[in-house]
Amino acid sequence: MNSIHVYTGFMSTLQPALFAFPETCGRVDRLGSVDVTYRRAASILNPGTGSLSGFDFSLNPYTGCQFGCAYCYAAAFVPSADKADAWGQWVEVKENAVELLRRRPDVAGKSLYIGSVTDPYQPLEAKTELTRAILEHLASLSVPPRIVIQTRGPLVARDIDVLRRFPVVRVNMSITTDCDTVRKRYEPCCASIARRFEALRDLKEAGIAVGVCISPMLPIIDAEAFAVRINALRPDRVSASGFHISERAFAANTRAEAWDLLREDGWDAKAYHRTMQVLRRAIPQLTRGDDAFVADARPAEQAA
Ligand code: SF4
Repeated sequence: MNSIHVYTGFMSTLQPALFAFPETCGRVDRLGSVDVTYRRAASILNPGTGSLSGFDFSLNPYTGCQFGCAYCYAAAFVPSADKADAWGQWVEVKENAVELLRRRPDVAGKSLYIGSVTDPYQPLEAKTELTRAILEHLASLSVPPRIVIQTRGPLVARDIDVLRRFPVVRVNMSITTDCDTVRKRYEPCCASIARRFEALRDLKEAGIAVGVCISPMLPIIDAEAFAVRINALRPDRVSASGFHISERAFAANTRAEAWDLLREDGWDAKAYHRTMQVLRRAIPQLTRGDDAFVADARPAEQAA
């Protein structure tokens, strides 16, 4: 079952250190069914390693993610079993993120991947505006870093004004299927497919480069129509990949829960490869995996 339907790229060599929890407890809030803790983080930039080695740094404004996707590999890196089991029900806000960045002038002019193990535009961001504050700081540097933002949150379109201030920027939106019924089974807390396309359209119209990540690919009902919809955006990058499994501890494994859903859906390696073939034919620029995005991200002003 798993022999072919895998990818080994994105974040397969993440260190558990990304999930080091600070000692001190902060203010605790409740947002729906999610526990939100405000903490002072010890650091905010991680060196780009493994599949992110094309980047100088990665940055995650939050620890944990309220989207809680059934397949999320990030849960595999949480050192606490309780926290891993409760993935999606807790988030920690790195409330001193901007303060920490002010002590890191070395980020100027570097390449930066935002959102490797959390979603910087999860619903909580509408309240905290932490990702926005981070971007405002970075954009104000004499040489702003080249950034790639990875998200499933249409809220990213709120920050178009700040994003336009970066000379090199791309927003990658994960759109994992063409069917909202499927989407609701694997990522019920994420926005609809239509809202994600809409956000990408707004970004593109504002001159910001966009990527579509079909990652991980969920069952797709009509691959040809999906490709037409993606091509209509004129995205700067399109990538696709399947679920991931590894024997190693702390590897980027797709959660067991998602494998079960896939089995129930009768989606196997054959279906995946058949769909990939259709997508490859229809989307010439389609690449496999999610890495090395910064190199070809075009300056915002050239991207329209
Ligand atoms: S949005 Fe990303 S980080 Fe958040 S749960 Fe889903 S896959 Fe994981």
